[in-house]
This record gives sequence, C-alpha cells and structure tokens, in this order.
Amino acid sequence: MKPNIAYILLGTNLSDREGLLNEAKSKIEKDGNGIIKQSSIYESAPWGFESDQLFLNQVITVETILNAFQLLEKLLAIENTMGRIRIDGSYTSRTIDLDILYFNNEVINSESLTIPHPRLHLRKFTMLPMAEIAPNLIHPTLLLNQTEILDLIQDKNEVKTFYPQGRHII
Ligand code: AMP
Repeated sequence: MKPNIAYILLGTNLSDREGLLNEAKSKIEKDGNGIIKQSSIYESAPWGFESDQLFLNQVITVETILNAFQLLEKLLAIENTMGRIRIDGSYTSRTIDLDILYFNNEVINSESLTIPHPRLHLRKFTMLPMAEIAPNLIHPTLLLNQTEILDLIQDKNEVKTFYPQGRHII
C-alpha cells in the first residue's frame, strides 16, 4: 500500500529550541512515521503576540500509514507529553507546536482538522520552508505552487535562516 505524504510544521520558542525540535522529530518517528525530508530551520518573531523569545520553525515531509485524523491525534499527544501550555483561544509561548500543513492532496474541513492548514498561505515562516522543500507542490484549493504562494505573501515579519547559517535572509 502506498504511504500517505504529510507536511508538518514544527514550531517552538521556549528554552532549548533545537533540542525540542529534535525531540519532537524523534517522537514522530517512534510513532512509526518516516521523515523523508527536512527544511532548514528558520527563526522569526512571534506572530500575534508579544514575546522576546523568538520562534524556530521547520517543515518536515513525513511518510505515514496513518490517516490525517490518526496523525493529528499522535501529534497532539506529542505536544501534550512535551508539556505545551495551552490557553484556549489565544496565542502563547509554547514548548512545541505541530501543525499538519498538507496531507496528500486532500481537502478536509472538519471540526478538529482543517487541511490544508487554513493559515499556511499567510505566513512567511511556513511558506519559506515549504517553498524550500516542495516548491512545485500544488495547494489543492488555491491551485498555486509553494513558490507562487510565497511570492504573494503580505507578511512583513522578518524570517531568518537559523540553520544552516549563511543562507539568504528574506
Ligand atoms: P494550534 O496548535 O493552536 O494551531 O491549534 C491546535 C488545534 O487545532 C488542535 O486541537 C486541532 O484539532 C486543530 N487543528 C485544525 N486543523 C489542524 C491542522 N491542520 N494541524 C494541526 N491542528 C489542527
């Protein structure tokens, strides 16, 4: 059976940020999913709330036999074990945030899950890593590829490459 392909955005702005990214990725693999591609790690100011602690973001491509809902359940369990502080309805500092950006070319609009992620096309910290690892992937409802979406973005927040260093800064 052909595995499903998911694109997952990882984000963190607390304590040992690289360590937290690595821990989350190893937990995703321990759940039986294969990480087949990883973007660079990007650093940006928080979106929607004030904090001195900058975010690190990375997108990974994952092969999985889980369906989108089963994958979401696993990711929420990882967020919980890693001690995410959840304050309903508001943005806040977080140990680790895991979002499913795309799942094959599926379109899902349910109460617990929206695929493609509803805000992915608005955020440079999401679209820079997406355009890096899957420039030609077509968004199933916008019908634009990742590079085209990035070019249209209005988000003025600065996003820098954190690792590997010395890459272009946008
Ligand atoms: P947040 O981490 O603040 O973006 O919100 C997490 C909640 O968003 C979870 O409880 C999910 O049920 C819901 N959600 C809806 N769509 C997605 C998605 N594509 N990826 C991750 N969480 C999602």
